[in-house]
Amino acid sequence: MSETSTSAADGPGDSAAPFRSRLAFDLDVDICVVGAGLAGLTVAREAARLGASVAVLEGRQVGWNASGHQLGTVLPGFGLPISDLIERVGLEDARELWALSKEGAAYVRAAATEELIPGIGLSDGALEVSNVDAGETLISRLQTLSEDFETEVEGWQVDRVRSVLKTGRYFHGIYYPKAFQIDGRKYVHGLAALATRAGARIFEDTPVVSIDFSGIRKRIVTPSARLRAAHIVLAGNIHLGAPLKRLSETLLPVWRYAGVTEPLGERLHDVIGFTGSVNDSDGIDHFRIVEGARLMWASPETTWDARPQRFAGAVQRRIATVFPQLGKVPVAETFGGAVGLTVHGMPQIGQLRKGLWVASGFGRQGLNTSAMAGQLIARSILWGDERWRLFSPFELVWAGGATGRVAGHLIGMWGRGAAAATGALARYREGARARERIRETRLAEANLRAGTRGPQRRPPGAARPVPPPPAEPPPSEEAASVPSQESEQVQDRSM
Ligand SMILES: Cc1cc2nc3c(=O)[nH]c(=O)nc-3n(C[C@H](O)[C@H](O)[C@H](O)COP(=O)(O)OP(=O)(O)OC[C@H]3O[C@@H](n4cnc5c(N)ncnc54)[C@H](O)[C@@H]3O)c2cc1C
Repeated sequence: MSETSTSAADGPGDSAAPFRSRLAFDLDVDICVVGAGLAGLTVAREAARLGASVAVLEGRQVGWNASGHQLGTVLPGFGLPISDLIERVGLEDARELWALSKEGAAYVRAAATEELIPGIGLSDGALEVSNVDAGETLISRLQTLSEDFETEVEGWQVDRVRSVLKTGRYFHGIYYPKAFQIDGRKYVHGLAALATRAGARIFEDTPVVSIDFSGIRKRIVTPSARLRAAHIVLAGNIHLGAPLKRLSETLLPVWRYAGVTEPLGERLHDVIGFTGSVNDSDGIDHFRIVEGARLMWASPETTWDARPQRFAGAVQRRIATVFPQLGKVPVAETFGGAVGLTVHGMPQIGQLRKGLWVASGFGRQGLNTSAMAGQLIARSILWGDERWRLFSPFELVWAGGATGRVAGHLIGMWGRGAAAATGALARYREGARARERIRETRLAEANLRAGTRGPQRRPPGAARPVPPPPAEPPPSEEAASVPSQESEQVQDRSM
């Protein structure tokens, strides 16, 4: 496994992380889960609750990667935009998939109580803001969400968004009153404790180095012990490595980094008057206020593993770009982890062959989706619930190994860059409109004082004089050179 970023809270001194031993003896269980992130732990907890004997094998520690280094925002839905989901599977299946994603969010809410996970700090409400002035698109999305997908949402006009977020960068917004946020790190460790309480056994420092999945009882090899199990659930995200290399190659790894500022005092509340999470609709910035007056902010991404500390300056600059009033704020802590993106934008959930399951590819929205996956897989193994088959249209698509990953990520980066450029254009247009209004007012005042009528304006609705057509621009090389994404199906999951 490659080295991954850890937060300042990591390490032996981290009180949220109890010591768990490595597997040092051979074991026979019903279900072996590979990976103790959000996905693996939810499968383990649910399967143990339904009566199975479960062992979780974790190569490092519980929540070592993204699961222990996320912002804790829980929204319904997937990385794939809702319109694309409908286009891909039709309205009925899209509605069912969406309902499952809501069940995933409800699962997290039910587990994230102060009784079950002390200090989890659940608070309600999340706001998705648009970087562009796209009121009509917003209205159609609102209708789809509330009427077709039974999701409680409110549309916020630009003024309302800007009354709580004092920046000209955001336009309209969608408010999700039922979305919520929790302490993400406490959640993953709380989930491990709940899984243990339900009867699952978690072994840390126990990487799975090979798997023989041919027989009815499958064999799992670790450096110091062997395991036999009727079912194996692969929940190793991008670090799965040797045991199923081709499966790992269906994910595009992207490292995402975040920072938490020093306490900023009242000035923070003057600028950000919204208490829940804020995401922009292009997936660039994601932030919220924590511990009263500190700002937690995720934004920078790379295609390679780097130390999160290196990104303190980038987070600081990003905050200053969106909220210049705050200036350069001191960043006290940084953290990050690798998310696995799929080519189609939907998670990988299902049975690859009898007794071999996959739960990964949760991307940047892993809390509700991994909870959903955990429930679906545990219930399928123990109850025969077949709803995971709704994910069958989203096959395992090869993400292209090292070269393809770079190409795929370039497309992602290009998308983020294009989104930022469109946002800049929208703000420029808005600024130009405002400047034009001021200019017209000044002109009218000057004409009034001078006793002149000023220039005649075209009556509303009158046709604008047609200017001669502009010369055809030369074809853009940039447009012609956007890399195309290679893809190849490696396995059909609908067995
Ligand atoms: C900065 C940041 C902010 C985020 N914010 C949010 C948010 O607010 N809301 C949200 O919904 N999502 C968020 N996410 C995304 C979310 O964290 C991920 O989607 C989710 O954690 C993925 O969980 P996982 O269990 O699939 O993977 P992981 O967390 O990667 O867990 C997989 C585990 O498997 C282990 N493993 C791998 N291979 C092996 C092996 N061979 N043997 C043994 N163990 C193995 C690894 O060590 C690892 O611990 C964020 C992510 C980041 C990085």
